[in-house]
Amino acid sequence: MNGLDELLDYDEVMATHDVVIGLEVHVELDTKSKMWCGCSTDFGAAPNSHTCPVCLGLPGSLPVVNRTAVESAIRIGLSLGCQIAEWCRFARKNYFYPDMTKNYQISQYDEPLCFDGEVVIVVDGQPQVIPIERVHMEEDAGKTSHVGGAGRIQGADYSLLDYNRAGVPLMEIVTKPVLGTGTKAPEVAREYMAFLRELMRALGVSQARMERGNMRCDANVSLMPKGSDELGTRTETKNINSLKSVEAALRYEICRQGAVLKRGGRVVQETRMWHEEGYTTAGRSKETAEDYRYFPEPDLVPVAPSREWVAQLRATLPEPPAERRIRLQAEWGFTDLEMRDVNGNEGAIDLIEQTVSAGAAAASARKWWLTELARRANEAGIGLDEVGISPAQVAALQSLVDDGTLTDNLARQVIDGVLAGEGEPADVVAARGLAVVSDEGALAQAVDAAIAANPAIAQKVRDGKVQAAGALIGAVMKAMKGRADAARVRELVLEKLS
Ligand code: ADP
Ligand code: MG
Ligand code: ZN
Repeated sequence: MNGLDELLDYDEVMATHDVVIGLEVHVELDTKSKMWCGCSTDFGAAPNSHTCPVCLGLPGSLPVVNRTAVESAIRIGLSLGCQIAEWCRFARKNYFYPDMTKNYQISQYDEPLCFDGEVVIVVDGQPQVIPIERVHMEEDAGKTSHVGGAGRIQGADYSLLDYNRAGVPLMEIVTKPVLGTGTKAPEVAREYMAFLRELMRALGVSQARMERGNMRCDANVSLMPKGSDELGTRTETKNINSLKSVEAALRYEICRQGAVLKRGGRVVQETRMWHEEGYTTAGRSKETAEDYRYFPEPDLVPVAPSREWVAQLRATLPEPPAERRIRLQAEWGFTDLEMRDVNGNEGAIDLIEQTVSAGAAAASARKWWLTELARRANEAGIGLDEVGISPAQVAALQSLVDDGTLTDNLARQVIDGVLAGEGEPADVVAARGLAVVSDEGALAQAVDAAIAANPAIAQKVRDGKVQAAGALIGAVMKAMKGRADAARVRELVLEKLS
């Protein structure tokens, strides 16, 4: 809360108004080269090292369309149930900003490549239709950093520009107004973003990492009195870059607009900025299309994908992620709760699938990835797929547990070894001498020693206090450095003291 906006209670808004949302999502494609030139799109390179006359907008340079970007756009469009234009053009969107080298962005306007789609997502168990207006191609802008003045333009001493991102292929996916979300518009928006992120990754067209700005959302929202069929005035909160913030920003705008309407005011159509502290502020008042003086881009030929090409691309579409989740849950025999943990852990479903393909039982694969390895990933602040152990190694580890070579405890030490670069699980077991001692003679000796060293406890067990055996089992396990099967040790202790 910034303390300036009056907010109406969310439920109170819901009691009198219907919410309409519209989401404009930008996705940076993972192509090797940029949209109109051969420069690399790699993230994190030295500033301005990935630039050329085209992406610097130098006079006389000419753009050429990146074929892979067009393919990705078509595949995205097909996945969203869109029509693919037989013929379409790029358009110039004219505006000045220092991160826009040409003083116009090449985008698409009234002739998008993909249009009129629809997807159904599930929110809290309920299906929700998301109608898609269009998917169009454009280019990203450069990156401005303000130096001094706490990084804001106001008060900055000077600003730096990095054009490495200028010209990176950008897809804009725009929904039609989304109706029928009941009281759940913010959750629907969040789920839709999660759906898109998963889809982009499944298609392999973008890493869709919101924290890196690979995927970002402008969230439009308006209120209309219940029963009305005339859309209210919307605001557009720009450049939201996390799922949580999409939900929070919409909730905030709904409560803010609700308060404006309740006191008889009118919502101003404007862009707003989201602040991670939890509120929006007014940005510039909204440009209209006329302000941009759109016109067809004369430097590029129209894009006219043949129907054969579109059919070929359709054949490359992956199983839709939601269907895949349902299929794998059934194959793995996971309960809804177990599957929810899998879905809630980024990348877990792929890792578990690969671990199962490498021979592990689904339950074991799930156990390793969601407990021990998830914990390590969390502690290191990295992704599950970055922990440093492969699905094949996890499967190998589990097979050593299954054949009795390792206990789960010893397996954890083997993981330490694998992560330390000591080789495959079997190598670590050999080098560190971690295998379970199954030699009954050695076990019996250790049990005898523990009993001899703890006569009082042994006597308690003899007297029928079976719980006291725990201390003896612990002593044996300690003496064997964990390399014993605790259940077998327990049997031996109780046998000897009965
Ligand atoms: P702009 O370029 O002005 O942002 P777009 O057409 O690109 O306009 O996107 C507007 C977005 O807002 C779309 O997702 C559209 O469905 C949505 N939208 C339009 N009117 C409303 C409204 N009254 N309330 C909520 N969303 C709306
Ligand atoms: Mg827009
Ligand atoms: Zn370039």
